[in-house]
Parts: sequence; structure tokens; C-alpha cells
Amino acid sequence: MAGIRLSGVTKTFGGVTAVDDVSLEIEDGEFLVLVGPSGCGKSTLLRMIAGLEEVTAGEIAIGDRDVTDLAPRSRDIAMVFQTYALYPHMTVRQNMGYGLKARRTPKAEIARRVDEVAELLGLAELLERRPAQLSGGQRQRVAMGRAIVRQPQAFLLDEPLSNLDAKLRVGMRASLAQLHQRLGVTTVYVTHDQTEAMTLGQRVAVLRDGKILQCDRPQALYASPNNLFIAAFIGSPAMNLVEATYEDGAVRFGQFSVPVGRPRAERRFVLGIRPESFEDAAFAPGLPTIRVQVTVLEELGSDAHVFFTVDAAPVTAEVLEAASDQGLLPGTGALFTARVDARTAARIGGTLELAVDPARFHYYDPVTGDRLSAAGAPELVAVP
Ligand code: ATP
Repeated sequence: MAGIRLSGVTKTFGGVTAVDDVSLEIEDGEFLVLVGPSGCGKSTLLRMIAGLEEVTAGEIAIGDRDVTDLAPRSRDIAMVFQTYALYPHMTVRQNMGYGLKARRTPKAEIARRVDEVAELLGLAELLERRPAQLSGGQRQRVAMGRAIVRQPQAFLLDEPLSNLDAKLRVGMRASLAQLHQRLGVTTVYVTHDQTEAMTLGQRVAVLRDGKILQCDRPQALYASPNNLFIAAFIGSPAMNLVEATYEDGAVRFGQFSVPVGRPRAERRFVLGIRPESFEDAAFAPGLPTIRVQVTVLEELGSDAHVFFTVDAAPVTAEVLEAASDQGLLPGTGALFTARVDARTAARIGGTLELAVDPARFHYYDPVTGDRLSAAGAPELVAVP
């Protein structure tokens, strides 16, 4: 086991910068997830740690060894990919032991380790089968087993669950977390799925355009996303984001106005409200309220999702992607989601009094996308 240290790691392909000056310290035994949209550079970063891709600049250390110029096989890591490429003509036992055999490990030792890992992964009964006789989930476990028997310093996993159906994925996610707990091996896991990232990662690094925007514990990432892109990306249902202004002691967005306790320095900003920061006013006395027109109602049993329209420019991950450096694009109205008590009397087409807690508002700079502090600094406040 060993930690991994990245210092100023950069990769360019021709003129394209895939990974841009990434520095990151992954602790010994940590489960770190790299997450981001397609093309953000997460696979390239992982492949550089593995040694499958040379760095253009920067250094990579595993434990106390600088591995920047070492071949993959000398780095003592094991990788699992989305396409796990088992040898079709070999049994599960042979597939799992193949890496050890190639390294000239004694036969008895291979058998002992394969048996042990097969037991751990629930593959003991399947050791004599060939890949074609296994389900997708079982094949994925064999691929994991092949990595584990090598007892590497670190696991590097690139979307290992994305070939599985949704239900199996949830099951495998739980097994992976459990496995990490038992083995305690440093793991770097790449995914584009924010739910997978949040449930698996002890820390989650969000990448965009080759840069790490924020690396934090899942709870911290959720509670205070440090920019608009992460605010839109992390959380399901997503954070409601809309252009808003501050005037006369209230935050105004579309047809709504909510008094806020502390004045804001900024006049214009992007307002973020998580769905669960709303509640049916009948169940949350004492908070400011807005009266909304219910366009859609989803009753989920445990709670209900109320959708309503806000007459202001919406801000979504897609808009952000398109707008990029040019600031936000105007829109035609934002569809908001509120998560409320299942006992709500809300009905489609009716109105609903929604309570909202302004202490849970998020504020972002509309041009840079940077998070603005929770309340304006008093000396900057320009209250009329
Ligand atoms: P995905 O989830 O779609 O695989 P990703 O976040 O893993 O995306 P990368 O595969 O790391 O992204 O790619 C990052 C950028 O580098 C992309 O713009 C991609 O087109 C480019 N890129 C990756 N590999 C190469 C290559 N071998 N040659 C040229 N450009 C490449």
C-alpha cells in the first residue's frame, strides 16, 4: 500500500491540453474518485498514473518512489477497465492467476492467492468456468479478482461498472465499497456518474477541461460547491439555479421575492437552491414562503417532487457547458424542483405555498461562476 502524489501533471495531444497542471495528494489507503463530464481528462489522468500514457510535464510518485518515467509493469499498480477483457479460452482460475504466472510466481502460491480472493469475491464455485459461462456481474468480479491477487500498491479503476445494468451496478458499488474497507488499498476510481462518485469516494475530485475544480469529501462538495459547474453537476435532483438580484432586503428571482436576513454586497448573481431546501409551508412554519403554480407533481412515497416555473433565465449544466467563458446565456424560464413532505396537499395545476430557508441559499458570480460568500461582507454592502 502507498499513497499517490501528482505534481503539476500535464498532458497535451498535439494542440489539445487533456490534463492541465494537476496537483493532488492521494493518501495511503484512500478511495479517491475522479469525476467529470466526457472529455474532461479523467481517463488520461488515470492512464498517466498507470504509466500507459507519458506525462508532458509534471511528476508522479507512488509511495516514496518517483514513477514518472517507469514502465507500467514496474509501478506495482493494477488496473481494471470498463471492458475487462478476460481471456475467453481460460477458466476463471487461469484468468485470475495469469498476471502472477507471467511474473513467475510459484504455482502453489498462485493457487493459494486465487482461492483466497475467489472466496472474498464469492467466485469460489465458479473457478473452473470460462468467461462465456458467466453473467456480466460475475465477469466484472473476475476482472477485479485478477487485479486483487496481484496485491498491488494501488488499484486504478476506469468506469469498471458502466457495462453493467443499473440494478447490478448498485450491487457492485456496494461490494466495491466493502472490498475497499477490507483490503484498504489506495484506489483511484474514474467515473462520469456523480451518484457513483458520491457514494464510493472518501474524497471526490471534480474535473473540467483538464483541471481539478474541487476535491473534497462528498458531504463538503454537496454542502458548498465552490463553483457553478459543480453546483449544477453534483446532486440529484440537481440544484435549482437561476439568475437573481438583491434589492431592498430581498433576493428576487423571476416573479418571486424572498427576504434575506443579511444584506448582500452583490446586486446580481446566480441563485442556487437545493430541492430539499424547500418544504410545503404546512410542514415548515416560521420560514418565508413563495406561492407557486404546480406544473408537475411526482409522488415518490417517501417524499414528493413539486415542479414549478420561475420566469427567469435558467442556469443548467448544459447552459454552462455552452456558455463556457462567455458568461450565461438568456433562457425562457426555469423549471424548479422542490422536494416536499409526502403528505403535501399539492395538486397539478393548483397553487402551493412553499417555505424556503434563505440560510440555505447558494450564490455564484454569473460571469466567473465562482461561489460568493454566504453573506456579503458588511463593508462592501451598498444598501439603498
Ligand atoms: P470519457 O469519459 O469520454 O472517456 P475523459 O474525461 O476520460 O472522457 P479523456 O479520454 O481523458 O477524457 O480525454 C481528454 C481529452 O483529451 C479529450 O479532449 C480527448 O479528445 C483528448 N484525447 C484523449 N486521448 C487522446 C489521444 N490519444 N489523442 C488525441 N487526443 C486525445
